[in-house]
Amino acid sequence: MAKELNALKEYLVDARERKYALGGFCFWNYAYGMSIAEVAQRLKLPMLYIIGDAEVKFFGGERNAVAAARTVAENVDVPVILHADHFRDFESIKRAIDAGFRSVMIDASSYPFEENVARTAEVVEYAHKAGVSVEGELGRIAGSEQKMSVDEAEAMQTDPDEAALFVEQTGVDILALSIGTVHGEYRFPPRINIPRLQKISEKVSIPLVMHGGSGTPEEKVAEAVKYGITKLNLATDLVKIVGKATAAVQQQEGFGYSVANLYAQAYKDLAEYAEHKMRLLAGSIL
Ligand SMILES: [Zn+2]
Repeated sequence: MAKELNALKEYLVDARERKYALGGFCFWNYAYGMSIAEVAQRLKLPMLYIIGDAEVKFFGGERNAVAAARTVAENVDVPVILHADHFRDFESIKRAIDAGFRSVMIDASSYPFEENVARTAEVVEYAHKAGVSVEGELGRIAGSEQKMSVDEAEAMQTDPDEAALFVEQTGVDILALSIGTVHGEYRFPPRINIPRLQKISEKVSIPLVMHGGSGTPEEKVAEAVKYGITKLNLATDLVKIVGKATAAVQQQEGFGYSVANLYAQAYKDLAEYAEHKMRLLAGSIL
């Protein structure tokens, strides 16, 4: 019997109470996923994978992604969570839940407040009946490709009063904030808005999460964790690590186009990176 995946909520509630965070590591390939799971196992931390629509496609659909994560779960004795990241509509989330996802994000943050509330609440109702955790997003998280002024960037950030209202009206379990991080690679020094986070965390008691973890200065991340951030999404860094390692190894003598040579360095580098981030985020609980 394949092991069931875990819902996310209880782990992040604990993290908020005890002021630590989990990394959400992008899952797009079984071998690389296993490299990170071995670290979680060694540190006795939950293995939290995030997976977007594009990565799901490369697994050949939601059921296969769930099957791959369940196979990881059979190989470790820590909880394994597969979190649907930035799913945009009810239909795709329903498909994910019906396929065995126990944790989903509905990202309706591009809609006006009321519509974001309505779309998120609809997902919460369906998900909670199935025991599935739901992350919503309020405020827009910029992409690294977007060019804007500091004022424009600040205007996209999460409003503390709206955040409290959003949580109350949707019943969401976890809230993704926009507080200055960006998706992808930073082209300018990131400014994490800690005062804003502090205000939000005074008004909102559920676990808060930060996207765009790659390249965010570590001292800022540690500070954000003190004020309620319980999950940091990491994707860009992982792609860079695998891209660099697999490119470098091909220049080495004796590479010989063997799969073992192609994967070994990336596998090792990912594990090193994951251990560093997990230790940083887990802080004093390790
Ligand atoms: Zn994100």
